[in-house]
Amino acid sequence: MSDGVSRWPGNYRCALVVSVDVDGPYGHINANGDRDFFWRSQTAYDLPAGVPRLLDLLNDRDVEATFCWVGRCAADRPDLVQRSHADGHEIALHSWEHRYYTPMTADEQREDMLRTSNVLESLTGERPVGHKTPAWRYNEATAAVAQELGLLWRMDEAGGDLPWLVQPDAQLPPLVELPPSRWYDDYTYFVEQTIPPRSTAEFWRDDLDVLRDEGKLLCLTLHPFVSGRPGPSRALADLLDYAIDLGDVWIARADRIALYWRDQTGGTSRSTIDN
Ligand SMILES: [Zn+2]
Repeated sequence: MSDGVSRWPGNYRCALVVSVDVDGPYGHINANGDRDFFWRSQTAYDLPAGVPRLLDLLNDRDVEATFCWVGRCAADRPDLVQRSHADGHEIALHSWEHRYYTPMTADEQREDMLRTSNVLESLTGERPVGHKTPAWRYNEATAAVAQELGLLWRMDEAGGDLPWLVQPDAQLPPLVELPPSRWYDDYTYFVEQTIPPRSTAEFWRDDLDVLRDEGKLLCLTLHPFVSGRPGPSRALADLLDYAIDLGDVWIARADRIALYWRDQTGGTSRSTIDN
C-alpha cells in the first residue's frame, strides 16, 4: 500500500486463500444430467486421486486451505473429510448435491445448507462457518440465509479485491464476503481451455504481485479433478512456493481471514457490488 500501512496482521502485505471445491461427479450431474458418463467419469477423479494429491501438496508446504464439500461427496468419502480436517484444513459448505441456488427459494437454500452442515459436523465435530454456492449461482436470498444460520463468510460475489461485510439483517452479525474470480479458478485454465501449468502459474504470480503491491486479497478456487491432476498441480505448487518465498503473504484459511476482517473493519458493510 502506498501509505505503508498494512491491512493485514503483522508484516503481511497481502493475503491468499486456497479454496478447494470438492464437487465430485455431482457438479456435472447437476449441469448435464446423470447420463453424461464421460463427465461423470472425468470428475469422479476428485475423490480417489485429486483430493489426496492436493492434501499432500498442501501438507508438504504447511499450507492450510479451505475445503468446500458437496454434502454427497462427504457422505461418499467421509474418510477424506476427516483426513482434510485432521490435517488442519477448514471444512466448509458447497451445497448438498451442487444444485444451483439461483432458482431456489430461501427455504430450499436453508434446507440445503443445513443438510450439508449436519453431515460435515457429524464427521468433524465442528460446525462449518463458510459457504460457497455451486458455480456461484446464488440469488438475493442466499446471503440472508447464510447470515441467519450464523455463518461467518461466503465466497460468491466477485466484485472487488478486498473482503466486505454484508448484513441483510441489521440485528445479526455481518457476513464477510470473500470475493472469488473466474481468473483465479482452475476451470478457466484447464477445462474451458488448456493452458500449460507454467503459464497458469505465471498468470497467478502476476495477480499476486499486483495485489501484494496494493495490499489486497487473492481467493483461489480449485477443483481436485482439475488442480489435483499431475501437471496442473504444478500451477498451485509454483504459486505457493512463490508466495512462501516472498515471506510476507498471509496464506490462510478463509475462516481466519474472514474473522480478522470482521474484527478489524468495525462493521462497515455494503449490500451490493459498489466498491
Ligand atoms: Zn462446485
